[in-house]
Amino acid sequence: MSAKIINGNEIAAFVRAEVKIEADALREQGIEPCLAVMLVGEDPASRVYVGMKEKRCAEVGIRNLDARLPAETSQDEILAILDQWNADPAIHGILVQLPLPDHVDEKTVTERILPEKDVDGFHPVNVGRMSGGDTSAFRPCTPHGVQVMLKHIGWDPSGKHAVIVGRSNIVGRPMATILSQKEPWANATVTVAHSRSEDLAGICRLADLLIVAVGRPESVTGDMVRNGAVVIDVGVNRVDDPTTEKGYRLVGDVAFDEAKEKASWITPVPGGVGPMTIAMLLKNTVAAAGRMAGSD
Ligand code: NDP
Repeated sequence: MSAKIINGNEIAAFVRAEVKIEADALREQGIEPCLAVMLVGEDPASRVYVGMKEKRCAEVGIRNLDARLPAETSQDEILAILDQWNADPAIHGILVQLPLPDHVDEKTVTERILPEKDVDGFHPVNVGRMSGGDTSAFRPCTPHGVQVMLKHIGWDPSGKHAVIVGRSNIVGRPMATILSQKEPWANATVTVAHSRSEDLAGICRLADLLIVAVGRPESVTGDMVRNGAVVIDVGVNRVDDPTTEKGYRLVGDVAFDEAKEKASWITPVPGGVGPMTIAMLLKNTVAAAGRMAGSD
């Protein structure tokens, strides 16, 4: 079998088109959706990511407000800006790009953002609401994007066995919560595997839906994939490749060429889950604007 490819670029473009319609409708009511983004320090990957968010915001009609701060900015200064943004009714979504410099406590910063403006879905209030089955809480963008991808290919996880490899607060854990919700495009039986799991290969082979977010290049090999499984590769890893102009290429956590011979559907890297993350951030931002305006 050679798997069908789940095209994240196409699905993300579809989500952005929906967001644009929602943003236009809000603007007709006199509300301009606005996302405020804070970047502290010079991390090159974070700068690229923030730049891409700005570009996508502009495309769908979301106003973007930026604070690009030097690495030595104190935690108190960061919190003071967040307090201003929290109090500003023209700002609907707030995002602090992670990682933060070592002298800043990520938990303190994340918890300072008002839950109603927490479009990343990392605030403990939103995490708790989602864990309690409140389907209206903001969901972390990457795992929510995976759920939307499944919906777009028409693959319903209900009653199926989903194995998630990785238990980070950004991907693995919220992915498990989302897929086990009692709601459409969820209702899966979920197993979460991690670095201490015994017989990882055996656990993976039980999966109807295999979602991998470990950050180790091509570590899930073809023999770990059940025939006909849906494989979602969240990983993004740079590996040296002197044959390319940049000297490296991006690969996922799944050995794509092998896995695609077993899977029914598979996401590529790049062009799979990656583009969904920003699309879902935009979606959360217009939802926040709509809720604040009382129209959602
Ligand atoms: P973390 O490093 O926070 O978590 C990695 C998880 O993988 C941990 O739970 C760890 O287990 C587990 N793990 C590590 N090694 C193994 C192993 N050998 N066997 C089984 N489990 C293992 O990573 P993130 O969740 O933040 O990111 C994972 C990947 O996804 C990265 O490549 C990242 O770049 C990518 N990513 C992509 C996004 C996108 O938009 N496409 C967004 C976010 C992340 P333990 O808890 O026991 O340490």
